[in-house]
Amino acid sequence: MVDCHSRIWYAVHFLYLYIKYLDMDYQSLLEEIAAEVKPLLGQGQVASYIPALAEVDSLSFGMAVVTLDGSVFTVGQANKIFSIQSISKVFNLVLAFSSLDEAIWRRVGKEPSGNAFNSLLQLEYENGIPRNPFINAGAIVLADMLCEYFSEPQKALIEFIRKLTNNSSIEYDIRIAKSEMDTGNRNYSLGYLMKSFGNIRMPIDLVMELYFKQCSISMSCKDLAQSFLMLANHGVVPYSGERILTMSQAKRINSLMLTSGLYNEAGDFAFRVGLPAKSGVGGGIVAIIPKLLSVAVWSPELNGFGNSLAGIHALELFTTKSGISIF
Ligand code: GLN
Repeated sequence: MVDCHSRIWYAVHFLYLYIKYLDMDYQSLLEEIAAEVKPLLGQGQVASYIPALAEVDSLSFGMAVVTLDGSVFTVGQANKIFSIQSISKVFNLVLAFSSLDEAIWRRVGKEPSGNAFNSLLQLEYENGIPRNPFINAGAIVLADMLCEYFSEPQKALIEFIRKLTNNSSIEYDIRIAKSEMDTGNRNYSLGYLMKSFGNIRMPIDLVMELYFKQCSISMSCKDLAQSFLMLANHGVVPYSGERILTMSQAKRINSLMLTSGLYNEAGDFAFRVGLPAKSGVGGGIVAIIPKLLSVAVWSPELNGFGNSLAGIHALELFTTKSGISIF
């Protein structure tokens, strides 16, 4: 009897939550958030170790929500394209995982690193196996796998991203890629160190070129939210119905985003926001809420961990004010 009552209670509760989510006024929510984060603009630092990235208007702010039923809500510069940088690591992981399946985990780990995204420290004593796919070393190993698997990896990756986004105009930004290549000594070091352990198989220049190109891709908040919807939809692109990942693979990628998507700030981000997400030093962050929506934010000024200062705050406000997170 008690069991029956508690089941009915849960059913009513979930119905209430479902109706509340469907009824959510995302537009007003985004406008409220944009107003509240405004005082934070000017308090961070734009990434300048890649010289071309420093040319951005540092006070920019945009945010977009795309729901699984296709509704789009935006505020600020949500349609302006910017350099997605490490957010691209999710795309190269998804493409490698969907192409090579479980074999990828022999060469890259699944643990949070607790170190900066470009750190060399663990790589030496962990025999050239990066802690996870979202630190630079992990993405470079995945780039190596894509170079081995595809005859034209750069073409395969950009076409894959266009398909996920339903936007054929997405491009590599050659100027940003060149700027990073000219100053990318630390990333080359990661690549060479892993090659010395046999964890990079293809010629290093080929692999690094794909890595720098993927980081240079330009997309808007709206594009990013759209492209991540597949991960909110258990691996199926909602607008085309195409399955990219199995349900289990999508679960694994979302789990990794939760534990490692914001590098050594992943714990604090999970505590404040409560969503799987991925950031980049271009100032973008994308997060997903399974079966409901994806949300992307862009504000180029970063905090000390290399994550968007206002972007994190905006996402914290998003889950706190709406009451929606994965917990
Ligand atoms: N391209 C950048 C780098 O390799 C990406 C880092 C980032 O976005 N966190 O340093």
